[in-house]
Amino acid sequence: MASCFGHAVAAAALGSLVLRREDGWRPWAAGVLLANVADLDVLGFALDIPYAHAWGHRGATHSAAVALVLGWVALRLLRPPEGARARILIYGVLAAISHPLLDMATSGGLGIALAWPFTESRWFWPARPIRVSPIGVGPFFTARGLRVLASEAVWIGIPSLAVAGPAWLVRWRSRLGGAHVA
Ligand SMILES: [Zn+2]
Repeated sequence: MASCFGHAVAAAALGSLVLRREDGWRPWAAGVLLANVADLDVLGFALDIPYAHAWGHRGATHSAAVALVLGWVALRLLRPPEGARARILIYGVLAAISHPLLDMATSGGLGIALAWPFTESRWFWPARPIRVSPIGVGPFFTARGLRVLASEAVWIGIPSLAVAGPAWLVRWRSRLGGAHVA
């Protein structure tokens, strides 16, 4: 996994591209949750589900199919107005699928079962620059955890800023323009 912080930053960057001001804060919060929910599969370790099992860590919960379902569930729970439904659905799916796509760029662990249930094959990207995050809270607050955060700052933080910065600039300018007209 990338850390929960890395996944949250990616979800926020996607939100800056897709969401609008009138959507309010709830889709943003949902996006951060959706970008992290896949790692609930670590609970499987406590249930003796092997890592490489379809329901093991980085298995089914990290698939594109589950990302689609999560986006749909978020849409049902958020109940946005008619005109915002497609946007919220797209954002929810993007936030959810950003998790496995980022995990595929991490340096350790098993690959990601992105195409489950069609195949249980697990994949990585050809390049995997993001240091894999330790599982659990304790190991995270160590030198290793800091190295993970530094790696994510470079490989997730900077690209997210590159995406979100211009998007927020456009929002800011349009708001200024709106204020001027008003
Ligand atoms: Zn993960």
